[in-house]
Amino acid sequence: MTRFAPSPTGYLHIGGARTALFNLLFARHHGGKFLLRIEDTDRARSTQGAIDAILDGMRWLGLDWDGREIYQFTRADRHAAVAMEMLQKGAAYRCYLTQDELAAMREEAMAAKKPLRIRSPWRDRSPDDPSAPHVIRLKAPTDAGAIAIDDLVQGTVVVQNSEIDDLVLLRSDGTPTYMLAVVVDDHDMGVTHVIRGDDHLNNAFRQLPIYRAMGWPEPTYAHISLIHGSDGAKLSKRHGAMGVDAYRDELGILPEALFNYLLRLGWGHGDDEIISREQAIEWFDLDGVGKSPSRFDTKKLENLNGHYIRAADDARLADLAALHLGFEPSVEQRELLRRSIASLKPRAANILDLADAAGFLFRTRPLEMDEAAAALLEGDARALLTRLHAALDAVGHWDTEALETAVREVAEAAGVKLGAVAQPLRAALVGRKTSPGIFDVLDLLGRDESLSRIADQMA
Ligand code: GLU
Repeated sequence: MTRFAPSPTGYLHIGGARTALFNLLFARHHGGKFLLRIEDTDRARSTQGAIDAILDGMRWLGLDWDGREIYQFTRADRHAAVAMEMLQKGAAYRCYLTQDELAAMREEAMAAKKPLRIRSPWRDRSPDDPSAPHVIRLKAPTDAGAIAIDDLVQGTVVVQNSEIDDLVLLRSDGTPTYMLAVVVDDHDMGVTHVIRGDDHLNNAFRQLPIYRAMGWPEPTYAHISLIHGSDGAKLSKRHGAMGVDAYRDELGILPEALFNYLLRLGWGHGDDEIISREQAIEWFDLDGVGKSPSRFDTKKLENLNGHYIRAADDARLADLAALHLGFEPSVEQRELLRRSIASLKPRAANILDLADAAGFLFRTRPLEMDEAAAALLEGDARALLTRLHAALDAVGHWDTEALETAVREVAEAAGVKLGAVAQPLRAALVGRKTSPGIFDVLDLLGRDESLSRIADQMA
């Protein structure tokens, strides 16, 4: 049983999505379940917008969790009950340190250049007034021992007991801390494998004493290394640490491409680059997850995306590209877009490219020429267009084969290479220097529109 436990304080970022993916694949590979828990106990920072973005991003990527997602905040009573149970067992204590006293301890630790590890005097003392404001703290182990974790990714990691402080379990207002809530929930949900970012490795040593105090079975941990930018620095916005929705909406990435990319970020199966969901489930295990941070490489993601675009169904791509045209296409325009996909997709790295490259189909006449296209219409070009117009007008059946024959004949008669004719023709039809194959362009635009666009630019 695995879980993904995001805090809904922002978008579903790329690191979180990869953590969720590894949890999903590990569970599916071993025939287990993958659960989702929304850690919304921080009421001030948790938002519904962030929850929606997480759920939406996970669905889009196909990170299907089992059952209904669990909202941590709804379990606050249970968390408090466990804290009480720990009190009764003598594994926790009420601590009456005041804010001032805590501040003084913090200052002292700073002056000594030591991290603050609280062992409160209230550990073994009863107050005169038990109802005075207090928190409940863990009675962390104080013997000379250590806690060892056999982490499935990081290997064996040992932390001395003296390093582990008496962390707060329940705040003075009765709300649970992250440390307590996460352990209680993981236990109650039956989570056997905690797979998460290695920024939580330190927390594992503070969470295990809670399992031990409660006599609960301990989970197996796997702390996966963080994702770095291509320059090796921690992943930031500048490197593409955006929400997965931005990969979809702003970069035009297909979910299967991002899925494949995230999979290969820190995990590998030989030299295989293209790995399907089914293969991933069959092959994935944590022993293939590397210990060193992986580097985010936008180029690789784009290459993968290009691959998946070429493999994708034309109707689906047309629907996606339609969202980026900048206008709501009519039924006829949609159909034209769908017919154009086959000739557009070999050159597209993302859906935005696809929509952009399809734009010429819907432009109004006379076409605006960009600079490169205008340059192609200098010299003899416009005279060639006049000859092309006559030749194409005479074509009986408007199909790519007949069109190619007609264009080639014009080139031959003019004693120039095909390119010398095709370039001004492309400029006239598309308004740019690049486009799909010129015969596909003629075919897609159809006889009337093609001839009119050529006539617009003739000498
Ligand atoms: N809610 C924590 C986070 O978003 C994760 C907790 C965990 O995985 O144990 O960083």
